[in-house]
Amino acid sequence: MERRNSLATGRFLITLLLLLTLARPLHAQDAAGAYTVAPGDTLGAIATKFGVPLDALIVANAIDDPNRIRVGQVLVIPNADGSLPVAALAATTATGVVRAAAGDTLATLAARYALDPALVAELNGAPGTRRLFPGQPVRVPADVVPPMTVTLGAITALDAPAEIVQGRTGRVDVISSRPLNLIGRWNGQPLTFIPLGEDGLHHFAFVPVDALLEPSVYPLEIGYITARGVEIVRSWPVTVVAGPYDYQEIVVAQEKADVLTPDVVVAERERVVAIWSQISPTLWWRDVFQRPISVDYPTTSPFGTRRTYSVADIGNFHAGQDFGAPEGTLIFAPAPGVVVLAEPLAVRGNAVIIDHGQGVFTGYWHMSEMKVTPGTRVETGDVLGLVGNTGLSTGAHLHWELRIDGVAVDPMQFLDEAPF
Ligand SMILES: [Zn+2]
Repeated sequence: MERRNSLATGRFLITLLLLLTLARPLHAQDAAGAYTVAPGDTLGAIATKFGVPLDALIVANAIDDPNRIRVGQVLVIPNADGSLPVAALAATTATGVVRAAAGDTLATLAARYALDPALVAELNGAPGTRRLFPGQPVRVPADVVPPMTVTLGAITALDAPAEIVQGRTGRVDVISSRPLNLIGRWNGQPLTFIPLGEDGLHHFAFVPVDALLEPSVYPLEIGYITARGVEIVRSWPVTVVAGPYDYQEIVVAQEKADVLTPDVVVAERERVVAIWSQISPTLWWRDVFQRPISVDYPTTSPFGTRRTYSVADIGNFHAGQDFGAPEGTLIFAPAPGVVVLAEPLAVRGNAVIIDHGQGVFTGYWHMSEMKVTPGTRVETGDVLGLVGNTGLSTGAHLHWELRIDGVAVDPMQFLDEAPF
C-alpha cells in the first residue's frame, strides 16, 4: 500500500513536471539553426551565408517559389548534410494543442498526426517514449489541428482517409494553388492522380489496399516536384484494418492440374500484369459501375477469400468476385473503356480485360465465348462475352476482377460508390 502511494506520488510529480515543461515559453527567432529573412536577402545568398546547399534550404522550408521569400519570414537552416536541426524546427513552428488518447505516448501521438516524433518531443520538452494521460494536452505544430488538413507549399488542402479496410479502395483529394506535378506513394507504390474539373487545381488518387496487406499503419506520401526538380513530399499515416474474409481450400481436377505447370502459371501472370501496368491517360468512365451480370446471378464466391489450391502457386486469395450462372449467360461492360486483352489463357480461360483509364482495369475470366477483340471501345452495358467454365474453373461462372494501379481490390465497392 505504502509503495503504491509513493508510486502514485511519483507519477503526480512527473505529470506536474511535464505540465510545467509544456508551459515553458518558446522563443521564436533566437534558436540556433533558424534565420529571419532581412530586406535584400535572397535564398541563394542565405544558403551561401550558412554554407548549406540551396536545394536543402528549399526542401527544409517547403518553399514553392524560391524567388518569393518575404522579409520577416523565419527559415529553418538545415545542417550541412541536409538534415534538419530539431531545435530550429520547434522554434519556427507556431503551436496548437491536441489531447492525448488512452495509451498514448508522445511518439504514438506524433504518428497519428503524421508529425516528426523528434519535433513533438522537442515541442513538449520530453522524450517520445513519455507516456501520456488520457486528455493530457500536447503541443503540436498549429497547422495539424484539425488533423489531415495541411498545407504543403503549393498544396493548399489535402483530404486523406485515416483508415482503409484490406482489399478496399480509399481516396485522397489534393487541392493546389496552381497546377502541379503531383507525386504520391502508398506503402511505397506510386499513385495515379486523376484531374477533377478543368482548372487543374483539384486531383484525386485511388489508394488501393492489397487484400493481404497486414493490418498496421502505413505511410501515404503526397507531394510534388517543383519546377527546379526538387521533390516536396510529406507522409501521412493510414491505418489498414482487417477485412471480413473467409478461408477456402480449392481442389483442382487432375486433368486441369496437369496443364498448370509453374512455368505456365508464371508466364500467364506476367502477361496480365504487363497489361494492367500500362497506365493510359484517357479516363473513359465517371459513373458508378453497373453489374457485369444480371442480378438473377448472385455472388457465389466473394472477393478476398483466402485460398489454398491443390496445384501450383495460383495465388493465395481470391482476387475477384464470382457469380455462378449457366454457360452462355451474357456478360456486360460495367463502365466505358477499351478492350486491351481478349484471348484464351490457361488459368483464367477465355479472358477479357478492359482499360477504363488512369490505371483502372476490369477483368472477366472463364468465358465460353468472347464477343470483343483488343481495341474495341465499349460502353456501359455492351456485351463482352458469355459465361463459361474455361481455364481453372470448377463450374460455369463469371470471375470479375478490378485492378487499380495493379492491385486487386473489391469490385463490388464500385457498384455503390461513384468516384467523381
Ligand atoms: Zn473467381
